[in-house]
Amino acid sequence: MTIEELRDVEAARRWCREVRRRGLTLGLVPTMGALHEGHLSLVRRAVEENRRVCASIFVNPLQFDDPRDFARYPHDFEGDARALDSAGCHMVFTGTLAGFFPDVPGASSATIPRRDPGPLALGLEGEHRPGHFAGVATICARLFEVVAPEAAYFGEKDYQQTLVVRDLAAALGGPRIVVCPTSREPDGLARSSRNALLSPPERARALALSRALFAARRAWTAGVRDVARLRAVLLAELEQPGIEVEYAEVRDGRDWSAPRPGGLPAAPRALVAARVGRVRLIDNLALADARG
Ligand code: AMP
Repeated sequence: MTIEELRDVEAARRWCREVRRRGLTLGLVPTMGALHEGHLSLVRRAVEENRRVCASIFVNPLQFDDPRDFARYPHDFEGDARALDSAGCHMVFTGTLAGFFPDVPGASSATIPRRDPGPLALGLEGEHRPGHFAGVATICARLFEVVAPEAAYFGEKDYQQTLVVRDLAAALGGPRIVVCPTSREPDGLARSSRNALLSPPERARALALSRALFAARRAWTAGVRDVARLRAVLLAELEQPGIEVEYAEVRDGRDWSAPRPGGLPAAPRALVAARVGRVRLIDNLALADARG
């Protein structure tokens, strides 16, 4: 393996500083680990576009609204480092809350001041996971400061997150945010670290999320423009035993507005969240654009 493995935020800061001193472009892929092909697609894109790439692995307690979800989140630093190495990543780092926030005495979820994630954090994930995007914005701002990359890579799978992070980067004056397409299993299920927590029957049931989204896209392609009807198409797939739907919505993917009665979103995007057993899953799809 040639990847540099750093378990200390200050060591990561020094490594990144050296890359920049040498005039090499640097790309950052922030993750929470338990890496799968979706994460690695971000890394490969970053490797194509930068001379050096680093990935962070940090299961950020600030962005978990549910302590049980945090407690059972999968961890495998060594396996992740091997996968990153094979994708061409140059450095991987992790750290502790105290390491990321040395400026906050006794840094903990209770004491670290949160950033305001802005208006794009309102609704959907923001509503169903209170505090989540404030936690995301807080850690991303710190990662951007430690690494100071030219570009940071995020997955469209977490669509609302890409909007929040773009806003954050605009407010901070960088980095450039690159949004990469959702990587799916051959049967359509969006790849997610949480899929590993599904039992085989739950895994089969979870397919309803992507089925719902592709059905909504087919309806759009067939000329359905009424948002209530598009939602009904989503719910027809999602509402079944063993699935607890949190939301199934169509929004404008560019300005995040909810459709007004009779109004048509310019960039319609369907977004769903549901619990399958104890696992919460999300997915989304552009309705008018066959790429994702
Ligand atoms: P996470 O480890 O879940 O915080 O994800 C780290 C990054 O990988 C985020 O930008 C996610 O949007 C992205 N990501 C996760 N799953 C996928 C996927 N299936 N396809 C593309 N990107 C993904």
